[in-house]
Amino acid sequence: MLKDEVIDNLQKAVGRESVITDKESLLCYSYDATRIEVLPDLLLRPKTSEDVAAVLKIANKEKIPVVPRGAGSGLAGASIPVNGGIVMSMQFMDRIIEINKDDFYAVVEPGVITRDFQRAVEAEGLFYPPDPSSVNFCTIGGNISTGAGGARGIKYGTTKDYVMGLEIVLASGEIISTGTKTTRSVAGYDLTRLITGSEGTLGVITKATLRLVPLPEKIVTAAAVFPSLYSAVSAIDNILKSSIKPLVLEFMDRESIRVVKELLPIGVRENGEAMIIIELDGVQEIVEREILDVKDMCLKGGAINVEIARAANEREILWKARRAISPALYKINPTKINEDVVVPRSKLSDLVHDIREIASHYNLQIVSFGHAGDGNLHVNIMTNDKDKDEYNRAQEAVKSLFEATLRLGGSISGEHGIGMTKAPYLPMEVGDRVISIMKDIKRVFDPNNILNPGKLWR
Ligand SMILES: Cc1cc2nc3c(=O)[nH]c(=O)nc-3n(C[C@H](O)[C@H](O)[C@H](O)COP(=O)(O)OP(=O)(O)OC[C@H]3O[C@@H](n4cnc5c(N)ncnc54)[C@H](O)[C@@H]3O)c2cc1C
Repeated sequence: MLKDEVIDNLQKAVGRESVITDKESLLCYSYDATRIEVLPDLLLRPKTSEDVAAVLKIANKEKIPVVPRGAGSGLAGASIPVNGGIVMSMQFMDRIIEINKDDFYAVVEPGVITRDFQRAVEAEGLFYPPDPSSVNFCTIGGNISTGAGGARGIKYGTTKDYVMGLEIVLASGEIISTGTKTTRSVAGYDLTRLITGSEGTLGVITKATLRLVPLPEKIVTAAAVFPSLYSAVSAIDNILKSSIKPLVLEFMDRESIRVVKELLPIGVRENGEAMIIIELDGVQEIVEREILDVKDMCLKGGAINVEIARAANEREILWKARRAISPALYKINPTKINEDVVVPRSKLSDLVHDIREIASHYNLQIVSFGHAGDGNLHVNIMTNDKDKDEYNRAQEAVKSLFEATLRLGGSISGEHGIGMTKAPYLPMEVGDRVISIMKDIKRVFDPNNILNPGKLWR
């Protein structure tokens, strides 16, 4: 509960309309896509970097937690106000300030919806590749803070590879800038890279300079259905080892196909055990030829059917189905524990094997899909949190999944981040000494621990 005097000071600093206290509004900002819910004491909707600075000065003096928030689509509980305090929604800082066609960059505010940004640069003949499946509603600020990935990471990398510079408001209320608008720079420690992926724990991002690339002339898409998980994984391996460099190489297991079946094109609705989606981008004649080579590789690898979508509307149908998998899984069970482990690409079939063993050992249904070309799978452990025994087994399965991933040389999060839900497991991957260095860094940026406390570690 915040003191009236503090609320008064905040209203004086940023205007009454930006400070919201009614319970109905607070409820809307109390959860993310994990469905974990904690009510904040106050909602703040700043309009400028100066507003953010004024709020942080007050919060730092009073030692009030501040949780920056984009669209609340995170899958690790990173924007949940676990310790109460202020949720700072960046939704009204959503301007695209500059698109520079000569030097291939754009400057944006953090609240821009990623899809809106992509459309704006595409209208200028440019391309912003990072495309999390939540692209229609997540924000650039959230993407930078989680280091978001997406399907095109296999060819173009993830959000981390596109952040050239940031404007940050520190916990003290100071506004600093990091990085440059040049393609290279080695001026001291790379604070841009440090803040990217720091999940709102080091500062509030108020502006970002993002790298752009030329818009590809043509994108073609194919979907191939396979009779077994392993034939699909082996086709992925063959495509990756060929001279073709896919834009996208996505994987869906039988249950993922089943939950979005009605949305899929008729040709790939067959009862396969797995499906892969392949996309190629580049010069029209080349990608038109290469997609036939890919079709051939899939058929030789045992595919039951391969459909090629050349027109934009045909591609959109496939993507609509692919993006619908995560929410559609709730048709199976009321609770899902969604992990996003990643392994070196060559270990994908070992990971698929281990996931099967874990499902059978704990007698649970596990559904997997995701960015297989990067070795990054969304592993959904289906359960019911009202069934205590099953839920406990699901938690044990999570630990076994992380152990298997680390044994294979992977990481416990390929793109969703650590947030709250993976905080207990971070030491398994990085070790206690590294965590203590991370805590030292946190103290330099935020000595009073007001920025998104309770995240990354316990
Ligand atoms: C259906 C679905 C599909 C998804 N698919 C993908 C996918 O393919 N790839 C992927 O990577 N993720 C995916 N996600 C997860 C999620 O969309 C991403 O993590 C996304 O980057 C979160 O953006 P957001 O704007 O919702 O941020 P939020 O969830 O609001 O916040 C996420 C983190 O960013 C911090 N933050 C937000 N804005 C700022 C700021 N301005 N300054 C400092 N910190 C800030 C928050 O404090 C929090 O720690 C998916 C989610 C859903 C629901």
